[in-house]
Order: sequence, then structure tokens, then C-alpha cells
Amino acid sequence: MYSRIKSAVCTGIEGREVFVETDITRGLPSVSVVGLASTTVMESKERIKNAILNSGFEYPRLRVTINLVPADLKKNSSCLDLPMAMGILVSEMKEYPPETDEFAVIGELTLDGRINAVRAALPMFIELKAKGTEKVIVPSGNVSEAVMAGISEIYAANRLTDAMEILLNPMGRELFRKYGDDLVNETDECEDTLDFKDVNGQENAKRAVMIAAAGRHGLLMVGSPGCGKTMLAGRIPSIMPAMSEREITETAVIRSLAGPAASLGSPVRPFRHPHHTIGRAGLLGGGTNIAVPGEITLAHNGVLFLDEICEFDRHNIDGLRIPLEEKRISHFRKGETYTYPCDFQLVMASNPCPCGYYGDKEKECTCSQADIERYQNKLSGPIMDRIDMRIAMERVTYTQLTDKGSGLSSSDMRASLERAHNFARSMGRTGSNSDLTALEMDKHCRLGAEEKNFMREAYEALSMSPRSYVRTLRVARTIADLSESKDIKEVHLAEALSYRM
Ligand SMILES: [Zn+2]
Repeated sequence: MYSRIKSAVCTGIEGREVFVETDITRGLPSVSVVGLASTTVMESKERIKNAILNSGFEYPRLRVTINLVPADLKKNSSCLDLPMAMGILVSEMKEYPPETDEFAVIGELTLDGRINAVRAALPMFIELKAKGTEKVIVPSGNVSEAVMAGISEIYAANRLTDAMEILLNPMGRELFRKYGDDLVNETDECEDTLDFKDVNGQENAKRAVMIAAAGRHGLLMVGSPGCGKTMLAGRIPSIMPAMSEREITETAVIRSLAGPAASLGSPVRPFRHPHHTIGRAGLLGGGTNIAVPGEITLAHNGVLFLDEICEFDRHNIDGLRIPLEEKRISHFRKGETYTYPCDFQLVMASNPCPCGYYGDKEKECTCSQADIERYQNKLSGPIMDRIDMRIAMERVTYTQLTDKGSGLSSSDMRASLERAHNFARSMGRTGSNSDLTALEMDKHCRLGAEEKNFMREAYEALSMSPRSYVRTLRVARTIADLSESKDIKEVHLAEALSYRM
């Protein structure tokens, strides 16, 4: 007998509809899978057999042929386990085979017949929905992704027996049905609650962070341990504009690629904070079988914070150069190319020296001059060229620490940011100031005679490079936007210069 079950796979960041055709015929007992199945899918054969037997079903002692359609699309996921097992069980039914066309099914099976959630479910559901699917049978861990994709009837199955019950018993189906409302609480708990008003006594650093966020300028914070670098970085998403619908979906799809994702759909921008021991694949993406998105992609539309930048593997950090320029990264795996977006704001932090207290007012630095130089030399190179702003931070004093509630709050800062963005738009600029091209700079960063003189003196006195001159102008443009000034004035330039350290 023949059956056909609708499912999907994901290639790169796009879902593709797939049909699992199963035919059981007389002949020596065997299973063959055709239709560009990868090793992962070939391994499914064994899992499926055990899962079927351990769920109390019979496994056919006949010849089973499974065809994955379309045949030219490479299928590289264990998410076809469940539709393949169900296809075999449906094909075995000689009388009254059920109507399978209305459902799409995804899920990975364990040997004992349980169903595991799969990665990349959201792009698959988005594609299935676009192709007209309204009913899905999914692992419980992928329900929130089906909800986000707007699928109307979602049935969650924990075991192969559940999935068959849903398919065969229209009356009992309702027990397994899930609704978007069930997930609301889960989403709310994940809302970001960090606020800049909790950071006391770092008003200068907060201003620098606000400028960096407004112009999406790369930022480096240098200071001794405990001065609040991580506290500041973690609060940057709280002042960035809420994500648009398109960005929310994009961010959710990326999270889904990394693994089964709950609480999707939050408008708060991502904040990624990988530890310095992270490997190349973890940071940039990749993997042996399929390319999994790395931290730079998970930070897309948000902030990538690299704390203790000098401790990171230099080779990995240099690997950021091209993705930073192109705002996307391509991985090649087994003849396939996976391209992921990675448009993020880069924020880095470092101690001033190996012991951490060079320049500290209270604690003495125990490093040798050579150690300090070697350490600070690490703060150069191609990635540091992408850093528009560098600030030195000091530890807060006791008075500053206890003087609560006097500083800027996240909502104050976000309001300033919005004003600056509206002003820039009214001047005909839509992109980030950190990405201004030479042509745009000619138009929007033109200096008056006095300002030119000021910059000439600075250029010579500070022995600036052409590159750092351009960076200073871009930052000055953002500062001018924050004070809604069409022209870049001397005060804006002076402040921009102060962020060179
Ligand atoms: Zn030291």
C-alpha cells in the first residue's frame, strides 16, 4: 500500500515543503530511502524501526520504499523521522487508510518512540503556512514556533502513539491541540527588565554608550574589573528602538535555527555575550554536518558583547572582519552553502592590563611595563579598526554609588535616541552613521571653516590616521544628531575626539 505525508526541511534559513511517499510491496524485508537523503536521514531507518516496535506497533516484514519529494532537494535533518514512521504505519493499513493530506508532520524519534523537538522548525512552518497548510502535528518543544508562523491548528505529540492518535481519531484530537494563548506567560517572563537607571555614577560612560547605540558605532570600554562594563553593555538593548515585525521574524528564525526555541516574538533586541573560551564555530557559525548559526548571527539585529577581548583567540577575532563588513556570513558544508545574516552592534570590553588595575586610583598594578605593552598591543588590528569609540572607565566612588536615582534612565536615553533617528531621517539619512559612505559623508559631514581649522590642528597634534579622522567625523555626526543640529560644530567634534582614548 501507498501513503503520502506532508513535511518540511530547512536549507540555510529557508524552509522547503517535502512529501514523504511510502510504498510497501511484497519481497524480502528491507527498507530503502530514495530522494537525496543525507546520512542523517539514512540513519533514521534504524531509529524508526525501533520506535515503531517500542510503541507497540507492528513493523512490516515486507519491502518498504520511502521516496522523499522533491528528489533534487537535499534532505539533511532528523525532522523527517516522524513523517517516515507515520508513513510506514499508514501504508500498512489495508482498510480505511486515513486522510493524511491535511496535516504536515515534523519530529525526530527516539528509539523508545518518544518525539524530540527539532531545530529550524520556524522557517519550515512559515513555508508550510505559505503553501496553505493549516494543520500540523509537531513535537511539544516546537509549538511556539508553529504559533509564531500563524498555523491555525497545532497538535503537540510527545510520542509516536500520540501522533497516530491525532491522525486517526478526529474526536480525540482536541486533547492534543495547543493554542497561542497557552504560551503568553512564557513570553512575558523573558522581557528584558535591565535599566540604565540602575547603573550609578557612570554618567560619562552612559553618554558614550548612548552615542554608540544611536550611530551603531563599534565601542570598546577599558577599565578595571568591577567598574561596570558588563552592566552597561547588557543594558544597550533597552535603549535601542523596538524591532519591526520583519526584524522580529528574522530574529526568531535565527533562534529557531540554533535549536528548538520558546518565547519567540519579543521586540527586545538580542544581546549575546559569548565567553572568551568560545571556539570558532561557536562564534562565527558552522559545524560538521550542517552549518549552525554562531553568536554573530544570533546577535543579528542586536548587540554582540565581547568581554575581555584580549583573552579571545586572535584568529577567531580576526574572523569577524569580513562578516562585520558584509553583515552576513557564508558557510560551506558538504557541497551546500549556508548564508546567515549578522548585522549587529559590536561592543567590546577589556581590562587595561593583565592584572586589571593599571591606572586604577586605589589598587596598585602588579604588571611589568612589557606585560602592559604586550597586552595593549592586542587592542589593535583589523577588528579594532571597526571600533569608532574607545572609552576609559573608572571605578565608581562611594558617593556616586549611593547617590541613587539621579542619573539617566533607559527610557530617557531611548527617547534621545529616537529624536536623533527622527532628525537624521528628516535630513535624508536612513542607515547607521557608522556605515556612512564617502559620498554620504561629503554630503552630511561637511565642516565649516572654523571646524576645519579645529580638525586640522587635532589631526596634527594627535597624529591621527586618515581612518581615525573618518571615524571621528562619523561619531561627531551622531553627536550632532543627538542635539538635532544640521551642522557638525566644534563642540561635537571635541566630544567625538574624546572617545579616541
Ligand atoms: Zn596590571
